[in-house]
Amino acid sequence: KSGAKLYTQETSKISFDDVAGLLEAKQELREIVDFLREPGKFKRIGGKVPRGVLLVGPPGTGKTLMARAVAGEAGVPFFSISASQFIEMFVGVGASRVRDLFTNAKKNAPSIIFIDELDAVGRSRGTGMGGGSDEREQTLNQLLSELDGFEPHSEVVVMAATNRPDVIDSALLRPGRFDRQVVVDRPDWRAREEILKVHSRHVPLAKDVDLLVIARGTPGMCGADLESLINEAALIAARENATEVAMIHLERAKDRILMGAERKLILTE
Ligand code: ATP
Repeated sequence: KSGAKLYTQETSKISFDDVAGLLEAKQELREIVDFLREPGKFKRIGGKVPRGVLLVGPPGTGKTLMARAVAGEAGVPFFSISASQFIEMFVGVGASRVRDLFTNAKKNAPSIIFIDELDAVGRSRGTGMGGGSDEREQTLNQLLSELDGFEPHSEVVVMAATNRPDVIDSALLRPGRFDRQVVVDRPDWRAREEILKVHSRHVPLAKDVDLLVIARGTPGMCGADLESLINEAALIAARENATEVAMIHLERAKDRILMGAERKLILTE
């Protein structure tokens, strides 16, 4: 194999328990898990084979995590690539990467293909920035032809993620392609508490810790923010040679992350 990494193949150990909240999304994805676990059974009872699922939601809300969890729950190999990787580097590489990815996933079926940042390649034609759009279009066309080229009973489910569903080329959303959308939304306070619990499973917490208070004090934070909040708190505690993470560490970590978020806002304005 050459050094250039075209995509990654992994055996996911992530389960739905690792994904906090998002109950509706999990419920919708259950069907995909059931199909991948026992494709034969599914077909015998005449179920329509699921093909393409688009996970839609803001950055850091757990779309990639959710796709991995589907693979983990089903016990099937997980092939993933970020669509922005498709089109970087050399002209003509994108389309062949797509082909390669699909060929391997089919060889290893039942399996899941996950395409992150689908909008990078699937932006509707004509809305694009100038340069490189030919390359992008070739890649998109290859992707469309792969999606259409599956055998009717092929046991590959293609999942993709985007935070810009509004710019996705409608050709990608037609029946038989990414014809299902699952919303992966920003967490409410209940889900934030769940996320904090998941990420502090292996962190020794002091008696004074009340994750609900932190959850209520972090509106707008996504799962990725809350994960770093816990990590940051553990670092702060370690720096103080504390043996447990206490409320004060969590509060300080929270302020730090809120400050970082503000700085990001200022820089992008
Ligand atoms: P992006 O659009 O930036 O790719 P994403 O929606 O794919 O983001 P992930 O990469 O899945 O987000 O999330 C980043 C990390 O945040 C995850 O690896 C996980 O640790 C944490 N996280 C996000 N959402 C959740 C959640 N609902 N439960 C538990 N952890 C979460």
